[in-house]
Amino acid sequence: NNFALELASSIRSIPDYPKPGIIFRDITTLLGNPRAFRRAVDELVQPYAGLKVGKVAGMEARGFILGGALAHQLSAGFVPIRKKGKLPHETVSIAYSLEYGVDEMEMHVDAVEPGEKVILCDDLIATGGTAVGAVQLLRKLGADVVSACFVIDLPDLGGRKKLEALGVEVRTLVE
Ligand code: IMP
Repeated sequence: NNFALELASSIRSIPDYPKPGIIFRDITTLLGNPRAFRRAVDELVQPYAGLKVGKVAGMEARGFILGGALAHQLSAGFVPIRKKGKLPHETVSIAYSLEYGVDEMEMHVDAVEPGEKVILCDDLIATGGTAVGAVQLLRKLGADVVSACFVIDLPDLGGRKKLEALGVEVRTLVE
C-alpha cells in the first residue's frame, strides 16, 4: 500500500555499514520526517488499541525512541532493556547471540511485575537473536510478552519465525 511505500522510502540504506557487504537500514531519516514518524507510531499502535498492557519494553537504543512513543499512546509504562553495565539498580541479565558471538542485555529486577502484559519494541528484526534474548529476559521476571513489534523485518534472516516459535505474536510494518 501507499503508506508502506512512503515509509520504506523514508528509511535510508547505507551500503557496507558496519562491515563490507552489509546494507544497514537507517531509520534516523524516518524519525526526522514528521509525517513518517507519526504514521509509523500510529501504525505500530493500532493493533494494540484497547489492549490493556502494563509496559512497553524497548531495546537499546532505537527501541527507546519508538517504544517510548508507543508507551505514551497506549498509556503504558516504558522499560529500557540495555546493554550490560548501563543500568544503576539491581538487574537481571541474559546472554544473547549476535551475528558473530554473544553479548549480554539487562533489565532492572523490578521493571515488570509477574503476569504483567508487555509489548516488546525495536526498529528492526533480523536474525531475532536480540528479540529472543529480550523475551527470555522479560519472562525471567514473569512478564506476559503478548506481542513484539518492529518497523522493519528482514524475513530472510528468520527472526520472526524464532519469536513466533516462542509463542510471541510479531507485527512489522515493512520488509
Ligand atoms: P537481530 O538480533 O539479528 O535480529 O538484529 C536486530 C538488532 O540489531 C536490533 O536491535 C537492530 O536495531 C539491530 N540491527 C541489525 N541490523 C540493523 C540494520 O540494518 N539497521 C538497524 N538496526 C539493525
